[in-house]
Amino acid sequence: MQNQTYGTVLPSMMAYDRINAGLRIVLEQFRRGGANHAYLLTGAMGLGKRTFAKVLASTLFCMSEDKPCGVCEACRRVMSGNEPDVLEIYPEAGKQIPVDKVREVIRTVSQHAFGTGYRVVLIEPVEKMNAAGQNALLKSLEEPLSNVVFLLMTHELSATLGTIASRCVRIKMSPWPDELVQTALLAKGYAEDAVQRTVPLCGGNIGTALSLLEEDNNDEEIRSFVEASLSLSSDAAAVAVSTRLKDAKDKSDKLLAAVERAIHQTLLVKTGMLEESALEPLPAVWRQKSGSISLQSLNTMLEAIFCARRMRNAQVNWQSTVDQLMIKLLEEQTIWQQ
Ligand SMILES: [Zn+2]
Repeated sequence: MQNQTYGTVLPSMMAYDRINAGLRIVLEQFRRGGANHAYLLTGAMGLGKRTFAKVLASTLFCMSEDKPCGVCEACRRVMSGNEPDVLEIYPEAGKQIPVDKVREVIRTVSQHAFGTGYRVVLIEPVEKMNAAGQNALLKSLEEPLSNVVFLLMTHELSATLGTIASRCVRIKMSPWPDELVQTALLAKGYAEDAVQRTVPLCGGNIGTALSLLEEDNNDEEIRSFVEASLSLSSDAAAVAVSTRLKDAKDKSDKLLAAVERAIHQTLLVKTGMLEESALEPLPAVWRQKSGSISLQSLNTMLEAIFCARRMRNAQVNWQSTVDQLMIKLLEEQTIWQQ
């Protein structure tokens, strides 16, 4: 699910207003062409600093009236890291940002731009620059170049050199309201059940929410259950999967949610709401067949899962509920195998 445009990260640009009014004010500055030459985005890891920095940058390159639109070629290039006038510096895992890298980027932005005239430098996190790196950067902040905008990010303001912080306009990222996290996760294709479980645990931190949901994805038992449920080809296989779900007891919720999410993601890919790459973590058999499966079949399967959950909540016999569910999944999967 890389290369997301923010249309799928946030329901709309105005959502930033609900995170905090300061974000909208800065966004307006960029829209009006009145961007400052340096900003420092602060806030805990996972609050969406880098995404917001890219939203700001895309405002400078967007080709639409209502900037940033998030869908035009320029916006997509910035968001996916393919805009040559937007230079991004991140450290390798566990390492510092090398000073040579900082110098090289500063040299590049002082030359001509490729496109509209703007050049943007993203550095995250600034505290990963050693003293030499920070000094090289300081010089550029003291003598601003026209049409060059620095978007610096820090997870920990106290670890950032005061001389750098004092030369930047500060932008504070706040925790998101719960309903905004929820909308963003649903838009990304996570199952409603899993989202409901995760939102109260993440304290408005979208990054934390995504890693909690990914943990579910990396769980071997969950993964093999999804694989089995989406590669049903016989009654015997359906019975075996059904037994696994009955025996899972406490985990049955998570197992069902994972299957639901996989089907929902397939639906989103088929309707063009998600990139094809969203299917990569799904079982190979399912991916191969997903091209020929109908939207109606996908919807029938989602409905069957929804129905099973409702039956369980209504205390209907779990064993027969699960059996019926697997028969339904088998039916839909064998229709399109014929
Ligand atoms: Zn655009």
